[in-house]
Amino acid sequence: QLLESKRNKDLPAVTLDGREVELAANIGSPHDAALALEWGAASIGLFRTEFLYMQSNELPSEETQYAAYKKAVETMLPRSVIFRTLDIGGDKALPYLQMPPEENPFLGYRALRLCLDRPDLFKTQLRAILRAGEHGNIRIMFPMVATIDELRRAKEMLREAANELGLASLPEIGIMVEIPSTAIMARTFAEEVDFFSIGSNDLIQYTVAADRGNKSVSYLYQYLEPSVLHLIANVIEAAHAAGKWAGMCGEMAGDPQAIPFLLGLGLDEFSMNAPALPEARDLIRSLSLVECRKLAERALKCRSVEEIQALIAD
Ligand code: PEP
Ligand code: MG
Repeated sequence: QLLESKRNKDLPAVTLDGREVELAANIGSPHDAALALEWGAASIGLFRTEFLYMQSNELPSEETQYAAYKKAVETMLPRSVIFRTLDIGGDKALPYLQMPPEENPFLGYRALRLCLDRPDLFKTQLRAILRAGEHGNIRIMFPMVATIDELRRAKEMLREAANELGLASLPEIGIMVEIPSTAIMARTFAEEVDFFSIGSNDLIQYTVAADRGNKSVSYLYQYLEPSVLHLIANVIEAAHAAGKWAGMCGEMAGDPQAIPFLLGLGLDEFSMNAPALPEARDLIRSLSLVECRKLAERALKCRSVEEIQALIAD
């Protein structure tokens, strides 16, 4: 596996006709950052920061978080790390956080919703991330943003944290696009962020209303679902119209069937589990952007997953 990881890691992720994209890795701990480098990650597209909260019996302190985040930042230097702020709730409960029992946890009190409600907890994390950023190259993104008001409140808290630390400038700020309301309103959001990262895992589940882990409804949960492709196209278009970039950090970004469409739609950054990088890199280097654009255009006219699969087989 190690040999496989080294095989093409220093080659650029560039199509035959010269379109270069960023191939990034998703990580869940500072230790993963070193592994991501072995697999040839150009950056970290998603640092899931839940690990410290899940490992511990109490809320991790600013110092504990700072030390862990700094390690990841320093490991990746001069490459950048996108920190996703706490995405707890849903299926990820914390025993020491009093959370009301919910009938629909995935539609409930989770991620940014919880953080906006708990400025103490949120500010502690934001301060730890901003301090870690002083040691390298970071970006910050918020998960599960559903409305522009949530984004504004989150940015306000980030500005407050930066002021408390006496920081003159902020890192680039982005959002995960993983709720259909946000994908639909992407043009509005694009004016107030520096980048988008599409969270296809949740975006698909919320678009077709099918739990991403429920086998009995998995027929609905498809990367090539036309409604999902239209939402993705809208997000990328909106980002580019505003001069911003768009990436994807859900599992779909590493799927060989999906990559040609995503390239054709203009996706700028693909962030995936590190072991998926070599195959994705080979694939991108074997494709032509012009052909991928034609494929994407035709896919957006399809009426079903089956039609899109037939298009690929063709
Ligand atoms: C996603 O929803 O696509 C995503 C990357 O976030 P997570 O899998 O952590 O919910
Ligand atoms: Mg998600």
